[in-house]
Order: sequence, then structure tokens, then C-alpha cells
Amino acid sequence: MNIYSLPAFTDNYIWALVEGTQCWVVDPGQAAPVERFLATHQLQLEGVLITHHHGDHTGGISELTKHRNLRVIGPDNPSITEITDTAREGDSFHLLGATFHTMAVPGHTLDHVAYQGEAGSRHVVFCGDTLFAGGCGRLFEGTPAQMWHSLNKIADLPDRTEVYAAHEYTTANLTFAAAVDPENAQLQARIADVAACRAHGIATLPSSIALEKATNPFLRAAKPALQHAAALASGERLSSDEAVFAALRAYKDRF
Ligand SMILES: [Zn+2]
Repeated sequence: MNIYSLPAFTDNYIWALVEGTQCWVVDPGQAAPVERFLATHQLQLEGVLITHHHGDHTGGISELTKHRNLRVIGPDNPSITEITDTAREGDSFHLLGATFHTMAVPGHTLDHVAYQGEAGSRHVVFCGDTLFAGGCGRLFEGTPAQMWHSLNKIADLPDRTEVYAAHEYTTANLTFAAAVDPENAQLQARIADVAACRAHGIATLPSSIALEKATNPFLRAAKPALQHAAALASGERLSSDEAVFAALRAYKDRF
């Protein structure tokens, strides 16, 4: 399976999964970039994966399904009317020769799911707006406790898992990361790598679970440096990793 990034809006990525002439897309907020990709590469769209209900992830579904009989796999949310297959925690399904498992990851929204896939020895995760490269989604609907639990579920995937997030937010995320984890040498190296990518207009995704665990402050709340930064930012003594995470997320919101 090959995976391609289709830029949409200003900083979204629609991920296109391709095997032979068959294609699935993840979170098509717009139809036009998908139609262009299908036409250019002469591919047949077979289905859509949806991670959560936000319009920049779902806005293109109705146009894509208008003249096609597609499977639309998505969360248990009746507001996404085109869904044909509801994806719940623990569900498994097959597409393009790979096996996928649904993970419930509430926090950014309450309906948010992620799709973890295995194709041969390759592991991938489509995590929408939950885990970003160097950051995590804002808490629009869920609690910090829910998001902390969801991020840890994703972080528990194998280190080599390729992380396909839905936005190109990496540069800003790493600026915040450097402010709260200033002595992290791997983070400094990543900042240089990302700057080089962006200077050439290259996507900074996919990332990997190993890289996120080493450099993403929202997965590092158990580390003394992050505990220190979170206590300074919140002005409180923080008694758990979850409280450190909540303080870091609140600090990022006003950073
Ligand atoms: Zn969202």
C-alpha cells in the first residue's frame, strides 16, 4: 500500500491509501483535491475513513459519494449522515490488503476515533486531530483526562508505527515544545529537520511513535523537565502526569 498526502484548505492533509488502481481517503474535508488525485493517477475511489465530525474532515464526503457507491467508515455520530459502517473501539476491518483496528480516542471531540493499520510488517495510524507531529489537538469537547488517556493509547502502539495526523502544524508545535523542553537534544535535531522540510514545501508527516515519544511534550508529561515547565506555567504543584498534561495543554492554548 502506498500513502499520499493531498493538501486541503491551508494546512489540512487528506491521506490517500492506494493499492493497484484502488484508493481510499481519510478525512476528505474537500472533494476537489481527491477528484484531482484520482483523475491524475487514474484511480478508483472505494471508500472513506472519517476520524471525527469537524467540517474540515467531513466537508467533501457528500460530493465524493454523490455519483459513487462508497463505503464510508466513521465514528458513531448521526450528524455525519453519509457513514455506512460505524467504527467503534475494538472493531476490525480489511481494506486494500491491510487490517485496521478502530481506537476510540475522545478529547479533541467526543466522537473521535483513530485507525491503526497493519500491512505486512508495516504499522500505520491515522489519528486525525488527536496526536499531531510535536503536539496534540485542542480540547473542544472532551476533558484533559480523556485526551491524556487517548494519547497514551496511541503512544502504546509499536515505536515504528507511522503517524498520519491531519494537519501540518509541526513548526508551531515544535516552537512550543522547545519552550517547555529546552534541554531535549532530539527535539532540537527535529526542529532543524522540520525547518529543512518546510523550506522545500515538504510535508513533515508521517511521523513515528518513537519520534513523538522522544520529542512531543504532550507524551512526555512524566518527564521532570515537562513537570517543571507545567508547574511554572500553571503556578500550581501538579500531583499527576495527567495534571501535568492538562497544564501543558492549557499553556499551549495561550502560548
Ligand atoms: Zn478537528
